[in-house]
Amino acid sequence: MTKPNTMKALEKSKPEEGLWMVQAPVPEIGPDDVLIKVNKTGICGTDIHIWNWDDWASHTVPTPMITGHEFAGEIVEIGRNVTGLSIGQRCSGEGHLIETDSRQSRAGKFHLDPGTRGVGVNVQGAFAQYLRLPAFNVVPLPEDIPDEIGAILDPLGNAVHTALSFDLLGEDVLITGAGPIGIMAAAVARHAGARNVVITDINQDRLALAQHVVPSVRPVDVTKEDLNDIKHELKLRQGFDVGLEMSGNQQALDQMVEALVMGGKIALLGIPPGKSPVDWSRIVFKAITIKGVYGREMFETWYKMIAMLQNGLDVSRVITHRFGVDDFKDGFVAMKSGQSGKVVLDWT
Ligand code: ZN
Repeated sequence: MTKPNTMKALEKSKPEEGLWMVQAPVPEIGPDDVLIKVNKTGICGTDIHIWNWDDWASHTVPTPMITGHEFAGEIVEIGRNVTGLSIGQRCSGEGHLIETDSRQSRAGKFHLDPGTRGVGVNVQGAFAQYLRLPAFNVVPLPEDIPDEIGAILDPLGNAVHTALSFDLLGEDVLITGAGPIGIMAAAVARHAGARNVVITDINQDRLALAQHVVPSVRPVDVTKEDLNDIKHELKLRQGFDVGLEMSGNQQALDQMVEALVMGGKIALLGIPPGKSPVDWSRIVFKAITIKGVYGREMFETWYKMIAMLQNGLDVSRVITHRFGVDDFKDGFVAMKSGQSGKVVLDWT
């Protein structure tokens, strides 16, 4: 392949607010890597933290750093040890780079490896025309999954991992937080056979988007409606069986605990801004099971989500904004407005 020496890349060039479009060297790959020509990328909440250069970002991200970890593209170069992948293969990939010597990895639980590094966070990322990725992390895309969906498989994977934490077949499910991942989790819960899916937020635009993406979900603005009334409306005898907490908001978690049945289950993906007071005695006396969710299971979550997409799961309407990469600033403005779903940038 004739590859150029330099490429466009969206970089945190210096330790202050913003991202800058730069010309960066095209990465050299090692024997176990592939080089991917990036076609589409998704902007993540993580990228907003990095743009804003908040406390977390300034303590986590070295500069200069090419950001971004949600992508779809095609393989253009293959390291000499790599088997089973070919030039021209369309792919997405897992953005968590793992070590293989921890107890968890050696047990096959790669997503629990304590040495995980993040593409676009600790390692040069996907907001670029080319991305180097270990072949291990590559997830081939079937023909019926377009690049645009390939570019949001990372957050869809968060939604799938969270939603499939507990058996949802026939269950009544409460989701707190109607950001893109909460909305996609609602779609997954319906697809996985939940009876009722209720999603709460305090942002009207997000609740409207939730209903647009998943018409059968019941959106609830908790500033206007009480979950007790919703329980009556849905004729739930006790409450919700499973809660998926996507907001990181303490009040939302409190409301969830109150709204669950005895012995209910909660999967937590939302990240509170700091230490957050929790009414543990309520959780103990209701015998609630809580599971923290990190990333995506490698690669079971990817397998399940691709299978579901091929079997009718439709999250395409969660993508509300599309920009060419030269207009990346508009994409970040849309994300920061709190009114967008997923924002996808086109690098072709
Ligand atoms: Zn992400």
